[in-house]
Amino acid sequence: MNFLSLIENKREGKILAPEQIREFIREFTAGKIPDYQMAALLMAIYFRGLNTAETTALTLAMRDSGDVLKFPKDKRPLVDKHSTGGIGDKVSLPLAPLLACLGFRVPMISGRGLGITGGTLDKLDSIPGFQTLLPVEKIIAQVQQVGCVICGQTDKMVPADKKIYALRDASGTVPSIQLITASILSKKLAENLDALILDVKFGCAAFMQTKANARKLAKAMVALGNQCGTNTRAILTDMNRPLGRAAGNWLEVKESVACLENKGPDDLQELVIDSAAHLLVQTGKAKSLAVARKLAEDCLNSGTPRAKWDEMIIAQGADLNAFNQKLALDFSAKAVVEVKTEKSGFVSKCDARIIGEVIRDLGGGRLTKDSAINFDVGVDQIAKPGERMEKAGTLCRVHAADSVQAKTAIARLKIAFEISPKRPAKTPLVVEIILR
Ligand code: URA
Repeated sequence: MNFLSLIENKREGKILAPEQIREFIREFTAGKIPDYQMAALLMAIYFRGLNTAETTALTLAMRDSGDVLKFPKDKRPLVDKHSTGGIGDKVSLPLAPLLACLGFRVPMISGRGLGITGGTLDKLDSIPGFQTLLPVEKIIAQVQQVGCVICGQTDKMVPADKKIYALRDASGTVPSIQLITASILSKKLAENLDALILDVKFGCAAFMQTKANARKLAKAMVALGNQCGTNTRAILTDMNRPLGRAAGNWLEVKESVACLENKGPDDLQELVIDSAAHLLVQTGKAKSLAVARKLAEDCLNSGTPRAKWDEMIIAQGADLNAFNQKLALDFSAKAVVEVKTEKSGFVSKCDARIIGEVIRDLGGGRLTKDSAINFDVGVDQIAKPGERMEKAGTLCRVHAADSVQAKTAIARLKIAFEISPKRPAKTPLVVEIILR
């Protein structure tokens, strides 16, 4: 193919034909287009954009660049959730077993964290023995038998996105709504889903910082998901504050198990129930969101999703005894220190970005793709906006690799919180539902 003229056409703002898009994805995946030319096309797309037909063609071509999961016929719908990522966002962990207990099949293909936002696979790697890299046959078998799996993308799934994402990262072309949409949806569509719920976050610790940009991305993804035949909805959720009271890989696994045992925290439970409720409505298993929420709540309270969690982690190689022993510990990091308030009042700010940066720098996140992770560090017992604090009350607890790092973290975490004499107005977690 004449790839140079294709770059020039996009540079001039011309529309690419679906067949041209399919061909360049095929050729690039096969190593027949050099990275410098692909980077030039990505930059042209960044500035000129793609229309709906082009974005659809790109998404489907990327999806079809590798294996697409093929499940046997079954009356249980195939569903999943995707979050654009945030601090303390552990929703996937309790949600997968809950959905399995609600009669769904959940092939939850997840990712790793980079920068301040945590990754589901890193959280799961903190469970002794747990395997996140599974062959396609095992993914399908586990979904059929257990009802849910949470694992990484295999080398054979959506290879085009892997190559293109690395180039976008190195060429300043990540923040293009159409390229983000194609990247996220090509991976989700490779799961062959009946329904998908997207949690698009906005706020200081989110990929999209403003509500307007988060809405733009959500609308683009919902439109494209539906166009490609998967019933897709999105919720816009607040990521100015962390989700739950714990952030950091192992601490989030602990909090997820607490959520499955109906021990809160409230905001995490709300988002887990809401995500499940949307999928119940999307697949026709419930007539309204109110009915669906009640179904999901009753299921969570029944304890079956907690038992399903154990079934899922055992199926993926976890050592249940070692897991339970670790779960019984109050902490597993070397140095644990409380951060105290200097005055009484109401928490009026709990800055998720600062908390995320502190955890990354404690070793809980990655500065580069190859950074090693310390699973046990993080922050828990986080005081949330609106809560009353007395002087010397606990704002949060730092879990660090040593006391020097804990001390540095304390100084930074103090700035993450603000205490005011007046209780701040309560703000919703889920601010909008995007249906189309
Ligand atoms: N996550 C993805 O998988 N792709 C993007 O382009 C951005 C976020």
